[in-house]
Amino acid sequence: MTLTAHSQPGARLPFDITRIRRDFPILKREVAPGVGLVYLDNAATSQKPVQVIAELTRFYRDHNANIHRGVHTLSVEATELYEGARVKIAAFIGASDAREVIFTRNTTESINLVAHGWARKFLQAGDEVVVSEIEHHSNIVPWQMLRDERGIVVKYIPMLPDGTLDLEVARQIIGPKTKLLSITAMSNALGTIVPLQEIIPLAKAQGALVLIDGAQSVPHMAVDVQALGVDFLAFSGHKMLGPTGIGVLWGRLPLLDSMDPFMGGGDMILSVTMEHSTWADVPAKFEAGTPNIADAIGLGAAVDYLSALGMDEVRRHEIEITDYALRRLADVPGVSIFGPMDALQRGGVVSFELEGVHPHDVGQLLDTRGVAIRTGHHCAQPVMAALDVPATARASFYIYNTTAEVDALASALEATSAFFGVGS
Ligand code: PMP
Repeated sequence: MTLTAHSQPGARLPFDITRIRRDFPILKREVAPGVGLVYLDNAATSQKPVQVIAELTRFYRDHNANIHRGVHTLSVEATELYEGARVKIAAFIGASDAREVIFTRNTTESINLVAHGWARKFLQAGDEVVVSEIEHHSNIVPWQMLRDERGIVVKYIPMLPDGTLDLEVARQIIGPKTKLLSITAMSNALGTIVPLQEIIPLAKAQGALVLIDGAQSVPHMAVDVQALGVDFLAFSGHKMLGPTGIGVLWGRLPLLDSMDPFMGGGDMILSVTMEHSTWADVPAKFEAGTPNIADAIGLGAAVDYLSALGMDEVRRHEIEITDYALRRLADVPGVSIFGPMDALQRGGVVSFELEGVHPHDVGQLLDTRGVAIRTGHHCAQPVMAALDVPATARASFYIYNTTAEVDALASALEATSAFFGVGS
């Protein structure tokens, strides 16, 4: 028997916001009596459609068992569903072989896996890892830890005042000592889309490997690892309609084969004696212990949902809504927007400040009107330092957001601005 996930891969759906919103039960809830939810915190995590929720329930209700090596029916079914999700995810990112998809907990674990399994094995003191100033902490801290342990050098492509990267400096710092360029495709703090087509060749010309932090790009635009010509791609399921606790590291097969495992234990070995152990093949080598079976299957259903919409349509919708938000918020007294002002240069993220009002106060006042945004440093403290602000307020959009919700954000900000007497 071949089990496929119960969601419907393959069928293309029209991008109809009303229909899409019906798939997300949480969007109907009130956060206080009479106050509907306007969810604009998608860069932190996305909401989940009924198709994903149903897939999780169905797995636990009908198929739950541990995977691999089980001879009984449920174990075989669970294994087929888990491995089926791997195949879907491989196709979604253009991987040529599903064994290149490693299930992790999230982007953070995926990047740490490369730091431990590849960089610790192959890099020596003086070797350089190039990142950028707009990275999430998860693409800075693992390299700093390795620097302190092994003496590698971490270099940063700086941010320009408009939130884009300084490519002139990138050309200078990516050189013969660069062994890895580890860079985000899109900043979660500012929304900046990094021009990967210009930066990746700089690293490739030096024989360096390239890791893309796709936490913000894979959920929001078509990403094809072959077309990008990169070596690793890290992303999180929870930002792309999938469950929390499941993420992916994609890597080229020969590279993954050459790497050391990150964790030792069950399921990742070929043989164990009292003296020594040998490793299983990829991907099992990197999936020690019982994996997050249900959530991997849930992520497969999320990928079906996004594929049915079409990632080009997802991106088109986000450009439209971001463009509208940039124009609408610029009209609110006291609002300054950070990052590039062209919606084509940014994903669906608008980071801003309201003159004289702390971002946390902005966030709290917006919450009283049901508008959920994020405030803080967004795990990108170097970006805050470069902007010379302690924090920003950030609205971030996804497939179910409407221009009416942007209007709700703008009027809530206008009310906040009036409440604090901004500009008076
Ligand atoms: N990189 C970027 C660009 C992100 O936006 C995030 C999440 N905010 C991460 C990495 C880390 O993702 P996770 O917390 O799921 O590991």
